[in-house]
Amino acid sequence: MTTILPNIAKVRDRIQQAAGKSGRNLSEITLLAVSKTRPASAIAEAHAAGLVHFGENYAQEAQAKLDALAHLPLVWHFIGPLQSNKTRLVAERFDWLHSLDRLKLAERLQAQRPAGLPPLNVCIEVNIDDEGSKAGIDPAGLDRLVAALAGMDRLAVRGLMVIPRAGQPPAATLASFRRTADLLAGLRQRYPTLPLDTLSMGMSADLELAIEAGSTIVRVGTDIFGPRV
Ligand SMILES: *Cc1c(COP(=O)(O)O)cnc(C)c1O
Repeated sequence: MTTILPNIAKVRDRIQQAAGKSGRNLSEITLLAVSKTRPASAIAEAHAAGLVHFGENYAQEAQAKLDALAHLPLVWHFIGPLQSNKTRLVAERFDWLHSLDRLKLAERLQAQRPAGLPPLNVCIEVNIDDEGSKAGIDPAGLDRLVAALAGMDRLAVRGLMVIPRAGQPPAATLASFRRTADLLAGLRQRYPTLPLDTLSMGMSADLELAIEAGSTIVRVGTDIFGPRV
């Protein structure tokens, strides 16, 4: 036995409390279990506890788990940095990509997404705290990428993903999440026909702040599966 089941109950309780505090509807917030480095058995256990959405960061590791768990009705999200030569796995096997940060990736995914599948849901990763080495595009480049995505029928541009600067005080993290929400609100105004309804933000340590700022997908690893070893 692991502690996955009680951990999920605790995380759900935190989400519910945070939603209540902000007057938000619980049904707007999806719990995405980040299963990188975890065995397929842990994912099956989390699924038995009611979770459906799982996030993976590494293509090779993900492929083995997708194969092992193909019998379960899971929704797979790719959330890590994606190399251009690894797009095919995401295009063919995943439901979501949270870390789209350049046009080249979008073009490859558009070409590789099989016609028999629904469009791949994508979130654009934004480097919201302007960190030198961080993944994600500069907010100034957002419109140009969104405009290009609008013409790609195999991709559905759903919103934005961020990871705020580590080690900030809570008020600064909240401000980063709020700026992200403002960026999405601007895009929704300028691109009213696009399905821009998603803010992928908040992890184990800061999901309450993210929900306060409007998060619709929280990505939780450690507080569900325990510390990564
Ligand atoms: C690992 C990871 C998470 C989960 O982080 P925890 O602190 O373990 O909850 C969320 N998002 C991304 C992009 C990650 O790589």
